Amino acid sequence: MKNLQEDRRKVIKTLVLAGFGIHFVGCTSEVEPSQKKKETPVKKEPEQIVEEIEEEVKSNNVVYLTQEDEQFAELATYFNKFTQKSPAIIALVSNAEGVSEAILHAKELDLPVSVKSGGHSFEQFSSNNGGMVINMSLLNTIKWKENNEVEIGPACLLKEMYDELLPKQRILPAGSCGTVGVGGITLGGGYGFFARKYGLTCDNIISATFIDGNGEIHEVSGDHELMWALKGGGNGNFGVVSSFRFKTYPTPQHFSYTRLKAKKLDGERAKLLLETWFEYGQLLPGSCFSAFVLNGKSLTILITNFESSTPILEEMIEALTKLCDTVTSKRNTDIAGALRNYYGIQYPIYFKNASAGYYSKFSDVEGCIDQVLEKVVSTPGLIYQVNTLGGAINLDENKTQSSYPHRSFEYLSELQTYWSEGQDQKRDNYLKEFEYIQNLFYENGNRAQYRNYPSIGFKDWETAYFGDNYERLQAIKRKYDRDNTVRHPQSIQ
Ligand SMILES: Cc1cc2nc3c(=O)[nH]c(=O)nc-3n(C[C@H](O)[C@H](O)[C@H](O)COP(=O)(O)OP(=O)(O)OC[C@H]3O[C@@H](n4cnc5c(N)ncnc54)[C@H](O)[C@@H]3O)c2cc1C
Repeated sequence: MKNLQEDRRKVIKTLVLAGFGIHFVGCTSEVEPSQKKKETPVKKEPEQIVEEIEEEVKSNNVVYLTQEDEQFAELATYFNKFTQKSPAIIALVSNAEGVSEAILHAKELDLPVSVKSGGHSFEQFSSNNGGMVINMSLLNTIKWKENNEVEIGPACLLKEMYDELLPKQRILPAGSCGTVGVGGITLGGGYGFFARKYGLTCDNIISATFIDGNGEIHEVSGDHELMWALKGGGNGNFGVVSSFRFKTYPTPQHFSYTRLKAKKLDGERAKLLLETWFEYGQLLPGSCFSAFVLNGKSLTILITNFESSTPILEEMIEALTKLCDTVTSKRNTDIAGALRNYYGIQYPIYFKNASAGYYSKFSDVEGCIDQVLEKVVSTPGLIYQVNTLGGAINLDENKTQSSYPHRSFEYLSELQTYWSEGQDQKRDNYLKEFEYIQNLFYENGNRAQYRNYPSIGFKDWETAYFGDNYERLQAIKRKYDRDNTVRHPQSIQ
């Protein structure tokens, strides 16, 4: 039996060295003091548990690893170093059966289960302290199906997805960051440059293989209640998706951008710019996306478009040009090259990001925006960003078929801040200002938040993420994960 275990470990090691399933290398597995508390203490040593499981079952569907294994540290590496956790066991699965087996073992051992695809959860809800993490790294392939549909493994990264689809002249609407996993982004929504035209990533799921928290495997499609639940309410809540089937769209012929910059802003000028941006943002055609990014006193406004220009787009650029310091524009026919510009940082860093509310119009934030902007312009390194939503995201058919609840809003905002290792005082200061702004929005009544931009500090997170759909999701949780095996601090209760 020992040999079998050794053999399996060798196979995994080979896969790891060949680059499968490893998204980041050379990172520490440092644990922040505040994260060291164990959620559920493991009664036996993890190594002993793994040995017992492997004595009991000979399975090629899953390999269990503990901190003693060479590959453990790499598999336990996540994008956000600030929220690093320390699981007892990683179940590296090869297929849906492996997920099922891992869940059943975790239930027997009374271990909480988390699910990791791309490892980009802001709060690291894809890991835990002292429990089991089902690592999907090996499920990262893309297969073409009829009607230009694609079957994608959840651990496929967005850059891998674009690299496969774009040369075939197809796109799937998704986010811009290259190293985000298809699994997490899809199950919480998924917006980006193409969403106002083609909907959220989750709106484009045709079917999925889903292993529930009771260990049962389901093939779901059509009007199955799980399809509704997975579209916006599926990340880490009541089970694991091991495969998605998506529809795709023809790649556009070009991808243009205009980037406007304004420097040395004070609160008043930032407000005028924001108000002007809001005025036009929701009128843009579906082929456009825009982001207002205020980083301390410096503002960048990005406007992208992948169809012909329209009068409203021209008007928006003209109005903002008058208020900004510089403008650059480019029309790109190499779509893959254009998207690569937005892939972002591809190695783990220390940061705090979180949703800062959904809005429909400027008046939604008028009550607190003076204080918010004053705080941002006086805090170098604090970023307040607002992104356009709307368009196809808000179509009625998408609303009824998914548990993603925020269809009536035109804008989504977020707060971001970054620091380096050892900058504890800077971090604490940022976190204080972060909380101050979150409270301003909360008191102003901006309570809806994006599930994929979670914050452990959100009050009423259940309704903030899921709105009126929370109760229906609770019923699904009770049915498909009766012992609350798959869970994290903000999973459906
Ligand atoms: C740098 C950066 C850029 C981003 N850009 C965008 C963007 O442009 N648009 C956008 O919409 N979002 C964006 N996001 C947010 C992103 O969508 C979420 O962080 C997403 O949850 C990450 O998915 P993941 O698979 O990489 O993460 P993971 O940490 O692996 O998982 C995230 C969550 O999903 C759950 N989960 C993962 N896989 C599965 C599965 N197979 N079955 C069930 N549950 C699963 C996990 O339990 C966890 O709760 C960005 C995030 C970062 C860090």
